[in-house]
Amino acid sequence: MRMTVLASGSKGNSTVIASAGTTLLVDAGLSCRELLKRMKLANEDPAALSAILITHEHQDHIAGLATLARRLRIPVYITEPTHRAWVRMVTPRTTMTYAKWLDQVRTEKAATNGVPHVREATVGIATDPGAPHLASEMWEGPTTTPGAPAQTMPVSTSCVGGDAVELSAAADPDEADAPQESKPSPAHLPSIQYFHSGSNFSIGDISITPFTIPHDAADPCGFVFASRSEAVRMAIATDLGYMPPNVKRALQRVDVLLLESNHDLEMLKDGPYPWAVKQRVLSRVGHLSNHATAEFLAHDYDGGATYIVLGHLSEQNNAPELALFAAEQAIAGRMSLLGNRILLATQSAPLPSISV
Ligand SMILES: [Zn+2]
Ligand SMILES: [Zn+2]
Repeated sequence: MRMTVLASGSKGNSTVIASAGTTLLVDAGLSCRELLKRMKLANEDPAALSAILITHEHQDHIAGLATLARRLRIPVYITEPTHRAWVRMVTPRTTMTYAKWLDQVRTEKAATNGVPHVREATVGIATDPGAPHLASEMWEGPTTTPGAPAQTMPVSTSCVGGDAVELSAAADPDEADAPQESKPSPAHLPSIQYFHSGSNFSIGDISITPFTIPHDAADPCGFVFASRSEAVRMAIATDLGYMPPNVKRALQRVDVLLLESNHDLEMLKDGPYPWAVKQRVLSRVGHLSNHATAEFLAHDYDGGATYIVLGHLSEQNNAPELALFAAEQAIAGRMSLLGNRILLATQSAPLPSISV
């Protein structure tokens, strides 16, 4: 099996997992264009992808999802709560210009012989300023505009959620040039497959075990991937506030482990983030610190992996050297040429493929 980390960090996450016959993409947190570019750089063939799997709906994990899935016409494996949260995030609220509203009133008036069935409703629309930001984790890259200030205008209630919907700009720059009439709904995916954390499923010859992780998203998960014979196992566990027993169990007997080492506690405390964001990162639904990851590696990890890849490093609140040092200290004497080699995944470029 092969793992290729295309990007890891708060500006975007995406990893290729491949067996002899099946290639999967875990998360699509960069633009479609950037994902394709990085696959090419890493010698991964986008045409070989069988599916995209999503860990959770934060922007740094789904930014290029819709465009990539549509372009490659491949199914998206996602949990139902995550899918619903994502649809709410990418679906613009209905908006209506005043001119359009007047038009509509006139049409209705004509249709009902001069008795307009129009109720004046005051609706705050086109505003969901919290959603994309709350749902992102210190998303520092380009994103869709979170929305203009609330507009208050009289709206025929029959139009809210009806046909008179103006979609905002496409969420992905790759689709910005598409002709207006052919632009699909931002939430359109060619095929959706729901899975449940804790329930195994297979795609091609890869067996997948999703497991719940503690993180402030609708239904976040990590994954264990195994070849059909179970001879090789790879795991991805990033975006978790702490290491609960189910995660510790899931990460046993793996050959390659992509594990979060998000921040250095001192750097975070002294760093530039606002207090509330610091609290969120530090919380039990935030991110694993170098210290927490080291604690796991020292006390709960079975020492059996060939490679440990440290990922989702904060650019603001961590230094690669600190993350690496903490993990190496924790592994102590167990590192060798054959086992427990520690690598650092980066935000800016793909990591060379790891094959075991
Ligand atoms: Zn997240
Ligand atoms: Zn993340």
